Amino acid sequence: MRMIDHFLAGGAAPASTRFSNVFNPSTGEVQAQVALGDAALLDLAVQKALEVQPKWAATNPQRRARVMFEFKRLVEANMQELAELLALEHGKVVADAKGDIQRGLEVVEFACGIPHALKGEYTYGAGPGIDVYSMRQPIGIGAGITPFNFPGMIPMWMFGVAIACGNAFILKPSERDPSVPVRLCELMLEAGAPEGVLQCVHGDKEMVDAILDHPAIGAISFVGSSDIANYVYQRGAQNGKRVQAMGGAKNHGIVMPDADIDRVVADLSGAAFGSAGERCMALPVVVPVGEGTAERLFEKLIPEIESLQVGISHDPAAHYGPVVTAEHKARVESWIDTCEAEGGKILVDGRGFVLQGHEKGFFVGPTLIDHVTPEMSSYHNEIFGPVLQVVRAPDFETALELPSKHQYGNGVAIFTRNGHAAREFAARVNVGMVGINVPIPVPVAYHTFGGWKRSAFGDTNQHGMEGVKFWTKVKTVTARWPDGSPEGGNAFIIPTMG
Ligand code: NAD
Repeated sequence: MRMIDHFLAGGAAPASTRFSNVFNPSTGEVQAQVALGDAALLDLAVQKALEVQPKWAATNPQRRARVMFEFKRLVEANMQELAELLALEHGKVVADAKGDIQRGLEVVEFACGIPHALKGEYTYGAGPGIDVYSMRQPIGIGAGITPFNFPGMIPMWMFGVAIACGNAFILKPSERDPSVPVRLCELMLEAGAPEGVLQCVHGDKEMVDAILDHPAIGAISFVGSSDIANYVYQRGAQNGKRVQAMGGAKNHGIVMPDADIDRVVADLSGAAFGSAGERCMALPVVVPVGEGTAERLFEKLIPEIESLQVGISHDPAAHYGPVVTAEHKARVESWIDTCEAEGGKILVDGRGFVLQGHEKGFFVGPTLIDHVTPEMSSYHNEIFGPVLQVVRAPDFETALELPSKHQYGNGVAIFTRNGHAAREFAARVNVGMVGINVPIPVPVAYHTFGGWKRSAFGDTNQHGMEGVKFWTKVKTVTARWPDGSPEGGNAFIIPTMG
């Protein structure tokens, strides 16, 4: 059995007593075991990080950027190996796994420009002989707690920026697909980051709690489901830490009557079923607007869905692979049952899907359900599988209200040829990331990523300048260089520049 260990500075970690199975979702077999750490193990990582971080922060930003450049080169050189490893543990197809790594790498590319991003502000002559300037200093030790669904991208969203800013970083990846995060740590070391700048500790709630409570960790970035995000946000904040915690999602695709239906069908099938729907920016709800739009959509969408190829993650012909675990497969299928019991009409049924030759794999067939309404629990909750729910809306205002009132507010898309409708929609919808004829509006790395409502707790987005803000503290210096002339008397009133 392959064992996946922590990645600590100074070599092997003390032997763990607890382990978790890592499955191959395509076969249903256990392919490895990952060690689960505790507070004592975390403290070892923190002590190493404390040793190295001041020196790393004092390394000039251009040199830190060179390490990021080299890391980017190494990840690119190892792309195929990383993508195959990722696909083998997650279940997404290899081409999609490359996208997972590439989108994270784009944040590393952004981080290569860190000398520019870290430049402070300066005011010459803010008062007589007085200059004011600000500088951004690293937090010290940052931690990232990441979900299973993007084991390449999300860790890089976090440590790409945090490390470039001069922090040491401790990553606690998902215990379901932990191998790629460990490989990324190895590559960062090979790229020239001093030992201890990037470490990886594995674990479950016990390790997460240890991170939330460790006094030397200054900032925590979390991505995962909303209840846990909320818990992480509250407990971390209570302990005086800076916390950003991204949660679940239920993104809507609004299809206006004037939309290009062929384009919508192609976009929807990828956005709803790609990666088996296990994306926080997937489109699991489609809202056809107006009389007859749903029927025109179904005419092309149903054959498209029925032609989707579900296969093992290493099958180049597969559109999507299995979901991550047997429990998750059962959960997704049970949401389909619930939706049906609530009155949803199943148009394409993916329950009980079996892939010949891989009967034990965690596959769920593509599912399309019509006549879903906002009152249904299966609409209110995140399903996180290859399930597309249809909520019909009579007009634009009703369609706008659906994502705006939903508990989640991660992403949303509108498909239309009407610029005015799109502009109104983007301005008024109560959701953090909007696509206009773009089904998965994940912003590019130099912009920022973050949802609203229960999709994100905290006030700073991931990556881009928001990431730089999150991983640094601003220090503002007010300096006076007297010219030697006699000074005024004592000042007992607050100094003003008046
Ligand atoms: P999850 O919440 O189960 O796990 C996320 C992390 O929390 C993991 O590292 C896990 O080990 C840890 N964890 C699990 N249970 C815990 C507990 N009881 N206490 C403390 N920590 C715990 O999420 P997941 O299933 O790995 O990922 C899927 C979820 O993540 C979905 O809800 C998806 O929408 C969300 N997600 C959100 C975004 C975003 O940016 N908003 C991006 C990707 C995924």
